[in-house]
Amino acid sequence: MSTATASLPTQLADGLPLRVVPNANPRPAAEREAILADPGFGQQFTDHMVIVRWSADRGWHDATLQAYQPFSLDPAAAVLHYAQEIFEGLKAYQRSDGTIASFRPEANAERFVTSARRLAMPELPPEAFVAACDALVLADRAWIPTGGEMSLYLRPFMIATEPFLGVRPSKEYVFCVIASPAAGYFGGTVKGVSVYASEDYVRAVPGGTGEAKCGGNYAASLLAQAQAADEGCDQVVWLDGVERKYVEEMGGMNLFFVYGADPDAVEIVTPDLSGSLLPGITRRSLIEAAGDLGIAASERRISLEQWRADVASGAITETFACGTAAVITPVYTCKARTGDFEVGSEPGPVTMRLREHLLGVQHGTIEDTHHWIHTIG
Ligand SMILES: *Cc1c(COP(=O)(O)O)cnc(C)c1O
Repeated sequence: MSTATASLPTQLADGLPLRVVPNANPRPAAEREAILADPGFGQQFTDHMVIVRWSADRGWHDATLQAYQPFSLDPAAAVLHYAQEIFEGLKAYQRSDGTIASFRPEANAERFVTSARRLAMPELPPEAFVAACDALVLADRAWIPTGGEMSLYLRPFMIATEPFLGVRPSKEYVFCVIASPAAGYFGGTVKGVSVYASEDYVRAVPGGTGEAKCGGNYAASLLAQAQAADEGCDQVVWLDGVERKYVEEMGGMNLFFVYGADPDAVEIVTPDLSGSLLPGITRRSLIEAAGDLGIAASERRISLEQWRADVASGAITETFACGTAAVITPVYTCKARTGDFEVGSEPGPVTMRLREHLLGVQHGTIEDTHHWIHTIG
């Protein structure tokens, strides 16, 4: 363990003590440093993980910080058959003042509760979610890469583990947090993406699971993503599932359109939370931060046709996507059966201003006026 065990929390919540079993064979420092020099995204994992179990008769119990290792699962475990699974994604940073912190973990904890409800899973108390993330970051703080836009990506998730093939909510679950050192998601540089508007497939429909962060949504998205790749595009753009007209999201990121050529009178517009959109924390943070930067922000639906027409008329000057993993990514071209169009060819000024602002708050070079930073140690 790279930090004194004493600084780890002794419990995740009242009545949920944390047992600590340090990894007896952590990666050698030289190996870790080599990984941290070029971590990529989501390929390398730290020395520890946190696990908490839930059962119908005991509730949440057995919270343990232990060595990162494979699970042993019964082949009949419900998650393997009916995909009762939810997850989150957030980042911890080594900040310029030497402290370590995460960004709005309470918001992830709340969304985890909402996702759990939708998938008929037990609700993990938000304080336990945040404490589990904190414990892992403290235990593996030597794994937080420093410099540039690097961070430690945290992946909390919950799976249904009861061995039972009947179709009903499982009576046993495992909550787990793992951590992965991360460079930028798309390679760390501000690279624009091309998108393919999917007219054959939809991600979500009102009343479905589009608002929940569940693995099943991603399983259903892979074919459309592969089709986008076949069309030579980086990402898929989802249209609404009812009229197949209104732009909803890009892959696993929310979208913003920048209206107005005059930098003193710009407005950023993002699709409203229709019931099938994932309510991104980055999306919400940008809406809240826009005001600080003198940028108007609004939430309203916008059709693919309107996006194309407003780009053509010059009303829309920039388009970008946002999410925890890749922060803010400009969109350059959109391909669609109804006609391709060019959105931009370099990162726009509003896109870059918002991106630098958000990264500055996260890494500690810009004041955290909204109290989004959660200091861990
Ligand atoms: C996680 C996710 C987002 C982005 O949410 P953030 O909280 O900003 O990371 C957007 N769309 C989908 C489908 C997602 O799963």
